[in-house]
Amino acid sequence: MFSSSRLEEISIPIATHSAYHKRKLRVATIGAGFSGLILAHKIQHEQPELQEFIEHVIFETNDDIGGTWKVNTYPGVQCDVPAHLYAFPFDPNPSWSKFYADGDEILEYMQRIADKWNLKRDIQFNSRVVGLEWLETDGKWRMRVRQNDAEEREELFDVLVSAQGFLSQWKWPSIPGLNSFNGHKVHSASWDHDYDYSHKRIGVIGNGSSGIQILPQMAKLKGTTVVSFQRGATWITQSLGEVLAGNSGNPDSENQDMNGAQSPNGNVGVDMAEVSESDEEIGSNFNPRYTKADKRKFGEKEKHRQYRKMLQQGMNKGFRIFKKGSQQNANSTKVTIARMRAALNENDELCAKLIPDWTLGCRRLTPGEGYLESFLLPTVTLETSPIIEITETGISTASQNHELDVIVCATGFDVSHVPHYPVIGRNGTTLAEKWGVEPESYLSVACPEFPNYFIFTGPNATVGHGTLITSMTWTADYILRWVRKIAAEDIHSVAPRQDVTDEFVRYGDEIHKGLTWTGGCKSWYKNHRVDGRVTATWAGSALLYREVITAELRAEDFEIRYRSRNRWKGILGNGFTALEERAERADAEGKGEVVDLAFYL
Ligand SMILES: Cc1cc2nc3c(=O)[nH]c(=O)nc-3n(C[C@H](O)[C@H](O)[C@H](O)COP(=O)(O)OP(=O)(O)OC[C@H]3O[C@@H](n4cnc5c(N)ncnc54)[C@H](O)[C@@H]3O)c2cc1C
Repeated sequence: MFSSSRLEEISIPIATHSAYHKRKLRVATIGAGFSGLILAHKIQHEQPELQEFIEHVIFETNDDIGGTWKVNTYPGVQCDVPAHLYAFPFDPNPSWSKFYADGDEILEYMQRIADKWNLKRDIQFNSRVVGLEWLETDGKWRMRVRQNDAEEREELFDVLVSAQGFLSQWKWPSIPGLNSFNGHKVHSASWDHDYDYSHKRIGVIGNGSSGIQILPQMAKLKGTTVVSFQRGATWITQSLGEVLAGNSGNPDSENQDMNGAQSPNGNVGVDMAEVSESDEEIGSNFNPRYTKADKRKFGEKEKHRQYRKMLQQGMNKGFRIFKKGSQQNANSTKVTIARMRAALNENDELCAKLIPDWTLGCRRLTPGEGYLESFLLPTVTLETSPIIEITETGISTASQNHELDVIVCATGFDVSHVPHYPVIGRNGTTLAEKWGVEPESYLSVACPEFPNYFIFTGPNATVGHGTLITSMTWTADYILRWVRKIAAEDIHSVAPRQDVTDEFVRYGDEIHKGLTWTGGCKSWYKNHRVDGRVTATWAGSALLYREVITAELRAEDFEIRYRSRNRWKGILGNGFTALEERAERADAEGKGEVVDLAFYL
């Protein structure tokens, strides 16, 4: 039996509305890249009934959509997973020109889809979110938004969705003297297209995915010399997509023909039996160009679906590569070494410097069209001595001074997951404090003490296993299920429990010990460390993520607070269901409408 004070506390007048009446919610999304647009599509088209109780606003700091693909416009920028999988699942693109699409083609596709589905409807452009604070009493987020780099205003929201990307905060490297350089300095994520890079002495710092794409582009410009500054080797696989989708380098040797006959064109699963009457030249071995016949074939929805399914099958099967000590990893390593050696013309000195000795798959499997071959050019130099400083005229390493006209910083992003503006959660806890040492999330989508705050591609998301786009749609559905619950049950706030999150993180760390991402490389998957936790990738396959995130909401993992002193107010309402109320209204109107109250028989 409870006390009289408790009795008083939970005794409240009943609601005036029916059971599960959905209260109106203001939902803010930060970012209009793939994630934000997928959420917009869900709300506007896939689950349009949400609009009866959701007001959705998307804040985007840029003047248009695109995110990653609007900002990263450096020469050679491409996706590194098959383009046919790197597409909105609700409207995939049958006419990609190449197996790995160029950045501008991806952006153009995003624009086309956004226009076609009217996805810009709820976006406020040129609107940078500069502060977030959780107001416990109101159960709302107070957002500060700066518009057009000038006016600042405040808005209140019930639910916040961070779709601001995990690779959207680029940073200059912290190298002494960086600002003293008198030549041209450019970052891969903020490319200067007005500058003429030809006939220049160019230094490229970094050999991550961007550096690997940029280097051959700089090397092939007229009159350039290029120095590649890198601290360690990286695996240049035939490509993530090719390894995972299967091809001649299919690591699963028993199933080499899983994706169709092998082809000297490296056709990576295109069913050449059907598309060989080509009216165009097939592109490079590395990145085959789709023919007009291919595109015609993909124009038929079912054939396109089958092709995408085949790629996805290979991609999902290929996850075994990421298992330390697996046969697939060993096979793939063997194939990759042979390919790298061949690309380097068996040059022992270059092979020793450019072929890693750490586990394949520890860093992102990086395709590199023309990358290794560039080092065979007399105009390209590899510098592995550590950089000491940047001077007015170039870069000094432990072994020599390099006089340069241009320094390209392909040095990546701030991957701490901490936004560059204050995010203040429950009891004044800031996200900067919470994630200052280690960003620890609940299933990559939420964080304790940050109520009604959901994250696309948060810490430990599926960023290491193939395309991210499909995962984003699962995440969007997950977020929207919470939104429905919050609205329908008169919930004040939901936040994952700290103990549950701790257990999730620790268990994930254990799984990671058996995966290649904990290998002995320095990687942004580990927040640019050699040792330490894996902070970027999900502890398992994308399929595992799907299984967990699309299962029933694990409400038991959350601390749920209600707006009423008695939680049953939202659920039981006035004691009647909405259907019964509709039936009563219909009777009162007397127009003969019969509402089926025995629908369950
Ligand atoms: C060069 C490069 C190549 C890549 N290639 C692949 C690939 O091949 N396959 C793959 O799966 N992934 C790839 N990625 C990862 C890529 O980032 C994701 O696939 C995807 O584009 C992320 O989409 P997003 O919407 O979550 O984030 P983003 O595309 O980063 O979009 C976030 C948006 O939020 C906005 N924003 C951020 N902060 C604020 C703020 N405070 N206020 C308002 N707006 C804000 C940004 O302006 C941006 O438009 C690549 C990334 C890079 C950088």
